[in-house]
Amino acid sequence: MQGVGFRPFVYRLARANTLAGWVLNGEEGVEIFLEGTEPGLEAFVHDLKTQSPPAASIAEIEIHAASPAGLNDFIIRESERRDQLTVRISPDLPVCDACLTELFDPKNPRYLYPYINCTNCGPRYTVVLGLPYDRTSTTMRSWPLDEYCAHEYQDPGNRRFHAQPVACHVCGPGYYLRLGDDVVQGSQESIRRAAQFLNGGSILAVKGLGGYHLACDASNAEAVSSMRQRKFRKEKPFALMARDLEVAHNLVELSETAELLLTSTARPIVLAPKAREGEGAPEVAPEVAPNNSELGVMLPYTPLHHLLFAAGAPETLLMTSANRSSEPIAYEDDDALDRLSEIADAFLIGERPIARRVDDSVARDGAFGPVILRRARGYAPGAVAKIPGAQPILAVGADLKNTITLVVDGQAFVSQHIGDLGDYQSLRAFQETIQDLISMYEIRPEELLVVHDSHPQYVSTAHAVALGLQQTTSVQHHRAHVASVLAERGEWEKRVVGVSFDGTGYGDDESIWGGEIFVGGVKQGFDRVAHLRSASLAGGDAAAQYPIQAAAGFLAQIDSLPDLTAAPFNFPDRYQKAAELMNKNVRTFSTTSIGRLFDAAAALLGFTREVTFEGQAAMWLEQLARSAPLRDTYPFPYISDELDFRPLLQHVISDRLCGRERGEIARACHRGLAQGLRDAVVSICEDQNLCTVVLSGGVFQNELLLEDLKSLLQAEPIEVWTNHAVPPNDGGISLGQAALAAFASTK
Ligand SMILES: [Zn+2]
Ligand SMILES: [Zn+2]
Repeated sequence: MQGVGFRPFVYRLARANTLAGWVLNGEEGVEIFLEGTEPGLEAFVHDLKTQSPPAASIAEIEIHAASPAGLNDFIIRESERRDQLTVRISPDLPVCDACLTELFDPKNPRYLYPYINCTNCGPRYTVVLGLPYDRTSTTMRSWPLDEYCAHEYQDPGNRRFHAQPVACHVCGPGYYLRLGDDVVQGSQESIRRAAQFLNGGSILAVKGLGGYHLACDASNAEAVSSMRQRKFRKEKPFALMARDLEVAHNLVELSETAELLLTSTARPIVLAPKAREGEGAPEVAPEVAPNNSELGVMLPYTPLHHLLFAAGAPETLLMTSANRSSEPIAYEDDDALDRLSEIADAFLIGERPIARRVDDSVARDGAFGPVILRRARGYAPGAVAKIPGAQPILAVGADLKNTITLVVDGQAFVSQHIGDLGDYQSLRAFQETIQDLISMYEIRPEELLVVHDSHPQYVSTAHAVALGLQQTTSVQHHRAHVASVLAERGEWEKRVVGVSFDGTGYGDDESIWGGEIFVGGVKQGFDRVAHLRSASLAGGDAAAQYPIQAAAGFLAQIDSLPDLTAAPFNFPDRYQKAAELMNKNVRTFSTTSIGRLFDAAAALLGFTREVTFEGQAAMWLEQLARSAPLRDTYPFPYISDELDFRPLLQHVISDRLCGRERGEIARACHRGLAQGLRDAVVSICEDQNLCTVVLSGGVFQNELLLEDLKSLLQAEPIEVWTNHAVPPNDGGISLGQAALAAFASTK
């Protein structure tokens, strides 16, 4: 990987062992030429393996004998332009401890300098304009080094040797504060005033690594409410930034794994249960995450964040991507000033340009281990899998939570989270990211195999086709989900039972799938062997907006249905209208979506309004279920290759009519879904002589369902595999597409 201080490390190691030679970033990775004594060479190889820098990981070391060239010094050779570049660019790194110490040392020349960094830390992917990774190909190219920085940059023994974004107060960019037409100059004064604004309840736009954030005091209910109003974000939870780990511990209950995620070099937003109220627990306004037992928390990762807190900003900040509703994060200054002028009271603007937008990542410690729910800053554009094959592949993902995957020389690079392609800005970001990765890895487009979803109406499909390239193929959505798990593990031959529980996806029979069970593997392809019993879906994918509209089709199959427009259900008119559409067979589709079944259950339990973000009704149902103890399990039988939802919904209706507590109903419902799936996979594993089950798809973001499945499958001789490196939601689709296309098993 470039930019993680590896060449300087090699340099120091060679010198320490009195070896002559050179190191350079070559065609297939780092090339090192060494001359010296045998013990010196052996010590070098040993130290290379055991002492490499924190952000560098060595995939493989190959050693060949060479003739001595009579060298008497060790040098770092400049990168050479080659025909092919497989050396990867590093994701962005959080500010390191050594730099933090300097940041707050009044005697250090970089005291309070908001862009302090070194070879072990700082921006990478968000400043790179092209490869090879040198100062001239970063957004720092307009700031020539002064004598002080140049000295460090050129000294192989220094921590800043060839640290491309190195800078200081004298020679580098700074921050300034903009308030309407007024500008406060000077980083320190700007940051001090910005912290004051936050304390006063204002909303601040802050330029960070991969884009702008909108920040406010998380304990100030008024500030949080006006953030919701101005952002047009009704209920979706906001993320928080805690001043330090101690504050984070007061906000949320962190497992050991969750804490490792929180402090990892990716510094993601970590979802964890809210800490119980008590002494010392900081107040967070309930509007931050309404009706939710979890909070999303991250730690400061740029020097600027640390400076803001040190300048007295509230210890818990609401920090959300600077955008309006579903638009992508703003990252260019003019665009941010333009788009955010109605939202932010002030702008804290950094002068260093951002090369590309990269959102914060989101992760959690799940029932089956750590899982990434949004893969972006700190992870992208890292390689997540080795997919064998010589042909470069571009997989364009799905339309929601889009990511793209580029396979080059057998390595699968997954892009940062791009967003929902229905939004014009996101679509632009999608096109830019494709161009960006293709040019960064110097792929000739005509060589590419392009893979898209089999949905003929997806925007991503249209774009893939519009590229006009010769080799284009499609992959069914839910097969891609299952393949993404196997791709992460490099399991190409393995036969598994693959479960994809999801919101939506275009099926082989042109209906809307989302409750699918397959048997097969990446190399041989997947056969659909079972699924949720079909229901009608009035309005197709548009029904995802309205749980009662989704409910109509499922409920149409229930015998002696009570009047759902009356109490306790009180379904609004839309329910009748959906029923009429179905009766006339207008805009009515067939679906096997578990996501829509969750919507139907949520509707019966009182979620009868429109959802304001994807998956909201299912999240609401999970939260409701978590409020009650487990008492019983509703039947969700697996009969003749179908999971039958009718008995499940019948129980929900009759218990609701009896006035049973809604949390208990939601709990029994979850357990029922888990029990039904358990019965299905156990039966299929027995029939097919298989012992590995893969779970993927957006529904498996439901941790309660996973916890139930885990406990129900514990006694079985079955191993469960889930996503860890890419999300189980549609953010993982592009990796699965690439894997299936690589083996031409797209059916
Ligand atoms: Zn550092
Ligand atoms: Zn300088």
